[in-house]
Amino acid sequence: MTTETALFTVRRADASLTPSFPPFGQFIGGTFVPSTSTSTVEIVNPATEEVLTQVPAGTVEDVDAAVAAAVAAKDAWAAKTPRDRSAVLLKIADTIEANRELFETLEAANTGKPSAVAEDDISSAIDTFRFSAGAARAYSTLGADDYAENHTSVIHREPVGVVGVITPWNYPLLMAAWKIAPVLGAGNTLVLKPSEQTPLTTLKLAELIAGEVPSGVLNIVTGPGRVVGNRLSEHHDVDLVAITGSVGSGQKVAAAAAGSVKRVHLELGGKAPVVVFADADLEAAAKGVRSAGFWNGGQECGAACRVLVHESVADKFTELLVREISEITVGTPGAGDAEIGSMISKPHYERVLAALDDIRKDGLTIAVGGRAIEGPGYFIEPTVVTNVPAGAAITSNEIFGPVVSVETFSTDEEAITRANETIYGLAASAWTKDSARSLTVPRKLDFGTVWVNSHLVIATEMPWGGFKGSGYGRDLSSYALDDFSRTKHVMYNRG
Ligand code: NAD
Repeated sequence: MTTETALFTVRRADASLTPSFPPFGQFIGGTFVPSTSTSTVEIVNPATEEVLTQVPAGTVEDVDAAVAAAVAAKDAWAAKTPRDRSAVLLKIADTIEANRELFETLEAANTGKPSAVAEDDISSAIDTFRFSAGAARAYSTLGADDYAENHTSVIHREPVGVVGVITPWNYPLLMAAWKIAPVLGAGNTLVLKPSEQTPLTTLKLAELIAGEVPSGVLNIVTGPGRVVGNRLSEHHDVDLVAITGSVGSGQKVAAAAAGSVKRVHLELGGKAPVVVFADADLEAAAKGVRSAGFWNGGQECGAACRVLVHESVADKFTELLVREISEITVGTPGAGDAEIGSMISKPHYERVLAALDDIRKDGLTIAVGGRAIEGPGYFIEPTVVTNVPAGAAITSNEIFGPVVSVETFSTDEEAITRANETIYGLAASAWTKDSARSLTVPRKLDFGTVWVNSHLVIATEMPWGGFKGSGYGRDLSSYALDDFSRTKHVMYNRG
């Protein structure tokens, strides 16, 4: 398909990436073993449409073997001191750092993301392991004390046991790191199922750290969510299941987990509002949306994808935003300064294009972008949609692509009410120079992270997670260690 305006074209790298692939097999008990099935999943480079390699389409039996390995390893791993577990996490961080380019190339080839995004992902993954290594050692519980006559209470923080982890495709290694680091740091063993579309960097990590992590502590099973993910969720020897993914998948995981009454950790979708007040620095807000709305091609759960701007500055802001977005560069990994890459897969590309068709049918204005860009590769133009009335489908549906919508509001109360009118509660931002507003508005926004005059800045030390339909798990920070631990009260009778 060709664009009518051809404002955007795909910059293509001179040479195609030559990634180093992981071994073929399931990583169980510290080594790659054959799957019980001969079926495979093709792994595609979405920026070129070339098939990169294949991975096993795992089975229930593969999951059962991996869970058995994690069960066998759990007592010895839980018995290690925080210092010893921390040493392993630091070695994982060092291994990723020593192989940084390999991971960046493999991630970019599997996802079509620009090199700058892949570099940021790998740096953040390294930092996550280093933070968890320190946090696991610094973590402590209440000191022992007396709360009943002649009785002394002690609180122990224990590992939960075996944790099942299910990751998405948008930040494959980073989302795995966000789980592996605190899960292992808190003394659990785990079985991880990467997205069937993007398993390569997670498998590569397993290959490279196999000698550093005791066998059975970390296991990886590739394959479809409805088979491998579902088995992890229902398995009676899995004590907690954590998923980062869509709301629908989170609901299925929680339903499957109910049978064994296991704990569930949900990091689900988002539709982050960006509330721009009349007193805001409009240029800064427009630049903020350029970076936070289009990072990773908008395939980002906290993306700044829904602007609510005060009616008195809406025209000026929209003009600035459209100018910013018109300048975005699109390209393949390795193509110089490309800001956004391809969509992750053909089905997702078609979903985003269908959403753009619906936007046209709804009579909204596409101020810039709105179409596919000529292939090969699943590229879509950076898009700004204006003339969006309250309650339009685009204000609540997660498109998960390079599409930002702009609505207007009249009063602060209206802005807050409308920003909160979504099933999601992951992230939001407020843009204002008014100090009173900057203190009151974030308290009224129903989202797990609220930025003021910023958006999508993530700190490893601070918790990340949602409210409402976005789930209730917390990643990053020592809150993640809490989520992957259980507390036990032991009371001693001194009478
Ligand atoms: P997805 O829900 O399609 O898949 C996520 C994972 O769940 C995959 O590994 C998939 O195989 C698995 N899965 C699918 N069905 C399953 C089932 N029945 N049982 C168990 N597992 C199952 O999501 P995606 O398309 O890979 O990722 C995009 C979604 O992830 C978006 O909604 C995005 O907002 C969300 N996300 C959230 C965060 C966060 O921190 N909250 C971060 C990244 C992505």
